[in-house]
Amino acid sequence: MRVTVLGKSPSWQDAGGACSGYLLQQGDTNVLLDCGNGVFGKLRERISYTEIDAVLISHLHADHFLDLVPFSYALGNSLLQQPVPVHSHQGTDSPARPRLIAPAGAGQVFRRVVGAWGGETLIEDSFALEEYAPGEEVTVGPIKAGFHPVPHFIDTFAVSLSSGESKVTYSADTRPGPEIVEIARDADLLIVEATLDSPEPEGDRGHMTPAEAGEQARLAGAKRVVLTHISDELDPDWAREQASAAFGAPVELAREFEAYEV
Ligand SMILES: [Zn+2]
Ligand SMILES: [Zn+2]
Repeated sequence: MRVTVLGKSPSWQDAGGACSGYLLQQGDTNVLLDCGNGVFGKLRERISYTEIDAVLISHLHADHFLDLVPFSYALGNSLLQQPVPVHSHQGTDSPARPRLIAPAGAGQVFRRVVGAWGGETLIEDSFALEEYAPGEEVTVGPIKAGFHPVPHFIDTFAVSLSSGESKVTYSADTRPGPEIVEIARDADLLIVEATLDSPEPEGDRGHMTPAEAGEQARLAGAKRVVLTHISDELDPDWAREQASAAFGAPVELAREFEAYEV
C-alpha cells in the first residue's frame, strides 16, 4: 500500500498547505483518509477525484472534513460527471459516487453545515454515505480500515489500515494514553499527531506534543513514525529532535506529497 500525504496542517493551514488528508493506494483502489480544508486541491494534483473509491473520515472537526463541500460540488456539477460530451470531455454514463465512511451522526452534521446556505443533502447526494460504529471494520478493495475510539474533544477514531501483511495506523487527533498505544501496536507505519508546543495547561487534553507522540510510538513498538497535524509555525528541527529522543530512533515529519510504501 502506498500512503501519500496530501495535507498535514493542524486546524489552520500552513502557508500553501492543507489540513488533514492522506491518499491510500493499492492496485486500482484509491482511498482518501480525511478531507480537511485544502485537501481537495492537493488531491487533484495527484489523481482525478472521479477515481476515488472511498473517503474515510476520522472525526467531525472542520479540519478533517470541510473539503467534502467542494468535492461534493465537483461530483454533482463538473464536466467530468456529465452524461453528454462538453468541451474536451467525452461524457460518462457512470458518474463517480464514492463511498463516504464517517462516524455515526455524520449525516446530521453534514446537513447542518451545508444547510446553512442551501440544499442540506449536498454531501449525501454526491457520496454514498455509510456511518460506522466504534470498533467497526470496513473493506475497500484490498484495503481494510478499522475505526478505534481515541480521547479527543468529540467522538474521534484512530484508523488502522492494512493490506496484506502491512499495518498502518493513523492516530487522528488524540491526547496521549493507552488507547493510541494499543491501536498502534507493532505498526509498520504510524502517522501520529504532534500538534502542541507544550501540553494543554488546563481542562481536558485532546492533542500531543512531539515528545509525547514519540513516547506513544515507542510504547506501541511502531517501526516507522511520521509526525503530522503540526504547524509550519513550529520549528521542524525541534519537533523532530523531541520526538526522536522519546522514540529512541529517528522520527520523520510529514510533508505534503511525501509517499510511504508499506
Ligand atoms: Zn480534532
Ligand atoms: Zn484536527
